[in-house]
Amino acid sequence: MIQFENVFKEYSNGVVAASNINFKIPSGDFVFLVGPSGAGKSTLIKLLIREEQVSRGRILLDGEDITKLRKSQIPKLRRDISVVFQDYRLLDKKTVFENIAYALEIQGESKANIKKAVDEVLELVNLSNKANEYPDQLSGGEKQRVSIARAIVNNAPVLVCDEPTGNLDEETAWDIINALIKINKKGITVIMATHAVNIVNDMQRHVISLADGHVVKDIEKGGYYENNSPNN
Ligand code: ADP
Repeated sequence: MIQFENVFKEYSNGVVAASNINFKIPSGDFVFLVGPSGAGKSTLIKLLIREEQVSRGRILLDGEDITKLRKSQIPKLRRDISVVFQDYRLLDKKTVFENIAYALEIQGESKANIKKAVDEVLELVNLSNKANEYPDQLSGGEKQRVSIARAIVNNAPVLVCDEPTGNLDEETAWDIINALIKINKKGITVIMATHAVNIVNDMQRHVISLADGHVVKDIEKGGYYENNSPNN
């Protein structure tokens, strides 16, 4: 369970990007963070992985207040909450397999364990046949699925995706969503910040809507605007 309690974030330039934010994301949830550009979606993600620190309030991960973590504890937080970005961030000189294996190698995993774990996540994102290709041989949708596979290979219980389909056409975006659905079915909490109205509407899942740093709507199952006009 992730809980935001009375969270405020004011940047040093005086912009209040999060204002009295309160919500709960149960373990195993699939939740969309929606809202116009500048609404505060990325800020909430940065607060959640302690890339930014709250000005006030608490953020609980399974009951533990992550705003209180010491610097030395932050790498552990980032293993528990893995993030995928719009721009993939793959290593060009490494193959798909090597991109995914890299984090496990640094941790000193055995070759056999690495092979097993990487093969498993490649199958989950439907890319077993691309293991030996390089990123520049892949389509945008395939690159994003590699970055998702890399994010989950460590068994993080929470996967956060910041506009993962932002650079992709709608059909390709659905390949990403289908991979995320499979991942969510394994019990991983999926949090996705997005502008993709059609996807959010078709999915009918938990939707937290932000505007101007406020939560303006939090519905357990619904669409992008849900009883709201696009202009609100
Ligand atoms: P979104 O992800 O919904 O587009 P952001 O969280 O990126 O929204 O931004 C929310 C607000 O905070 C915007 O007004 C943005 O300009 C501002 N902002 C974001 N990051 C910073 C920063 N590092 N310093 C100052 N202002 C920021």
